[in-house]
Amino acid sequence: MEDLKDILRSCGFSFKKQFGQNFLTDTNLLRAIVSDAGVGESTVVLEIGAGAGALTRAISERAKRVLSYEIDRALQPVLARTLAGCENTEIVFRDFSKENLLALEGELGEYVVTANLPYYVTTPIVLRFVEESASCRGLTVMVQEEVAERFCAVAGTAEYGAVTAAIARRGTCKVVRRVPREMFTPRPNVDSAVVKIDFTEGGFAVASPRAYRETVRCAFLSRRKTLENNFVNTFGLTRAAAKEILQAAGIPDGARGETLTPPVLGALSDLLVEKGVIQ
Ligand code: SAM
Repeated sequence: MEDLKDILRSCGFSFKKQFGQNFLTDTNLLRAIVSDAGVGESTVVLEIGAGAGALTRAISERAKRVLSYEIDRALQPVLARTLAGCENTEIVFRDFSKENLLALEGELGEYVVTANLPYYVTTPIVLRFVEESASCRGLTVMVQEEVAERFCAVAGTAEYGAVTAAIARRGTCKVVRRVPREMFTPRPNVDSAVVKIDFTEGGFAVASPRAYRETVRCAFLSRRKTLENNFVNTFGLTRAAAKEILQAAGIPDGARGETLTPPVLGALSDLLVEKGVIQ
């Protein structure tokens, strides 16, 4: 393939900051990310943000099929050149956040997400798969390093939050690769990391995912307040009723939400459903 920067230049492409356009060009890094994702000849891959197609091409070399979304139509002539000959790859020029995920899944079957995500929408995109997906087996995604720390955080740390707890319900999450800012064109102001979220291992069942979301929201509502206070404020419980529920869940007096592990939050949400606090 011709040099990516030459292709971008000859197509007269100008980078759009508002779309989070920081492209990767290093072939070794791109192949390593595809390896991290565990993509093989039977894997169907959904990519969000094809960009100039460098990662798309690396995925295409290993996968059964690649479906890639790109919001910026100005990349069409670039992608026509970089993805020439990639017969198993289709680019859809649409805003991924407006797509109907369940309809898309009906067409894809089992798949994984592999992407260097646009940073301005990283968390909503990841949460969408966490909350809505039925046939996604997991995501291997490049995100800002600070976001990666939040996704994979341990209970009780400053990075631990509602996003961590949401992801943990569905599976395991780990940082598999650190990527310095110098690897991107143009160079962003922060370093990045590749995070692997695996829906096929870890995770736990809850009576109601919606109740779990509400419980988690309540637990992190006001980080400096005790869970008991957050309970009283969120669910309109009396102090005595809040104490009783927390005691029944084995949560010590005065505990803050941020100290509870995701499975404990799961058990607590089940109890709130059982007691009729969350319908
Ligand atoms: N995959 C390429 C790479 O690794 O070099 C590009 C990654 S770049 C960080 C993110 C890409 O996502 C950009 O090309 C941007 O135009 C595209 N993008 C941003 N928002 C999008 C959206 N809502 N739906 C689809 N693509 C989007």
